[in-house]
Amino acid sequence: VRRPLIAGNWKMNMDHVQGITLLQKLAWTLDDNKHDYERVEVAVFPPFTDIRGVQTLIAGDDLEIVYGGQDLSPNDSGAYTGDISGQFLDRLGCTYVLVGHSERRTVHQESDELLRSKVDAAYRHGLVPVLCVGEGLEVRQAGTHVEHTLEQLRADLDGLDAEKAAELVVAYEPVWAIGTGEVAGPEDAQEMCAALRAEIEKLYDADTASKVRLLYGGSVKAANAASILRERDVDGVLVGGASLDAGEFANIVRFEH
Ligand code: 13P
Repeated sequence: VRRPLIAGNWKMNMDHVQGITLLQKLAWTLDDNKHDYERVEVAVFPPFTDIRGVQTLIAGDDLEIVYGGQDLSPNDSGAYTGDISGQFLDRLGCTYVLVGHSERRTVHQESDELLRSKVDAAYRHGLVPVLCVGEGLEVRQAGTHVEHTLEQLRADLDGLDAEKAAELVVAYEPVWAIGTGEVAGPEDAQEMCAALRAEIEKLYDADTASKVRLLYGGSVKAANAASILRERDVDGVLVGGASLDAGEFANIVRFEH
C-alpha cells in the first residue's frame, strides 16, 4: 500500500524567520492532533534560504516532518551562478526535491530535456524527485490534456531504470487550477492519475506502477482535500497557498477526520 503524502510548496513565500514560525505552528498543531506520520507523510518545500533553519528545527525537536528543495541544478558543482546543487540539498537533510513545477517550466522555460537531467541529478544525490506535470488551459479546452501530460512524463523519465522509478513521486498539477481557486474535480484528478499509473505500467511493469505515488495539486484546501484524496489513484496532494496557513494545512493532513 502507498503511504499518502501531504506536501506543502511554500513557493517564494516565507523568509527564514517566518518559515520557522510556520513550521513550528504546524508541528504543534499536528502534535496536538496526535498525528501519525507513519500513516500519512507530511513534507514541506521551503525556499532555499529557509532550509538550514528548517533542518535545525526538525533535528532539534525530533520532528517527523520531512522537507525538500523547490528545484535543483542538473549539475553537481561549478560555475553556475545562482543555482543550487542536489548535493547541497542532501547535506541539509532534504528527502525530496520538486522537479519541473509548472512555474519553472513557464517562468524559466525549463524544457523536458533539462528536467530529465534534473531527475538524474536528484537520484545521484539520494533525493526523491517529485516530478510535476500537467496541462495549461488551452490544452484542457482542446481535450488533449491526458496525451499532453503523459508526453511530459515519458520525456522527463526517458530511460530511467525501474528501481529508481518505483521511488518516484509524480504530481499532477493542471496549470489552470494553480492559484486560481479553480479546482479540478476529484474525477479529473482520478482520470489523470489513473492514466499516469497505466503509462508507468507500460513503461515499466505493474509492480513499479503500484509503488509510484501520484499527487494532485491546484487550489487544494481543507474543504476539498478529502474528496480528492478519496480517489483510488490519488496518493496525496501538493498544496501551494493553503500550506502557508498552519491550521489550514494541518486540516488537509487530517483529511480522513
Ligand atoms: P495552489 O495550491 O496555490 O493552487 O498551488 C498549487 C501548486 O502549484 C503547488 O505546487
